Amino acid sequence: MTRRVLIAGNWKMNASRDNGVNLASDLANRLKKKGKSSFEMVVCPPFTLISSVCKIVQGSKMSVGGQDCHSSLKGAHTGDISATMLKDIGCSYVIVGHSDRRIDHSESDSFIQKKAEAANFSGLITIICIGETESERNAGNTLNVVKKQITKSLPESANSENTVIAYEPVWAIGTGRTPTNEEVQHVHAEIRLELSRKLGREEAEKIRLIYGGSLTPENANGFLSLPDVDGGLIGGASLDAGDFWSISQSFYRL
Ligand code: PEP
Repeated sequence: MTRRVLIAGNWKMNASRDNGVNLASDLANRLKKKGKSSFEMVVCPPFTLISSVCKIVQGSKMSVGGQDCHSSLKGAHTGDISATMLKDIGCSYVIVGHSDRRIDHSESDSFIQKKAEAANFSGLITIICIGETESERNAGNTLNVVKKQITKSLPESANSENTVIAYEPVWAIGTGRTPTNEEVQHVHAEIRLELSRKLGREEAEKIRLIYGGSLTPENANGFLSLPDVDGGLIGGASLDAGDFWSISQSFYRL
């Protein structure tokens, strides 16, 4: 089974218009120069930069995603953005359930499930983030936590075409700490097993499971060799074109 490697950059609440435009242009040029590639690259800028970045990456193989969407398609939700709006402006992906949102906005699994449903309905590919906190890990609860998150946050509409699961241990995000390769492989294999219960074995084999949490050009290569890691969700290092590119090349899979 060959799953197409996905390298996704989450810019979070970073980058001025100039920074964002330069970063996206640099990456789009590298992709163009590379020509045919066996991996897919996505950048998720803040909402304010999506339109400019979409224009820049036109004609390159880079895709653009939102960092979040609302669970409704439209309506009285001041300050929110819908999945249909993201699709309309040129996005093909959206992240939902990032731990920043779960923590800052108290987002529950069932709320994330509704967002993922709205995203799939709008024709976006949903990157659903799951992962345990440090205390959950220390209590030996990692697998229970991620399995529960899968059960409760995957919508009925989820399949291998419209959904990517990002395993992001909360304690590894932005901290410079990572699980071992063996731990990541173990959790990813268990996630796939759980997905096969939910979606059936065939879909579970096809769905992409990406790892996120302090990925760098130095450590990315170790994750490439893991059979159940199909790419990465990269925060800090995605703000530097050279680092992000170098991570994408570590994940190169024939
Ligand atoms: C993230 O925010 O999803 C993330 C993985 O961040 P970092 O790479 O900086 O740990």
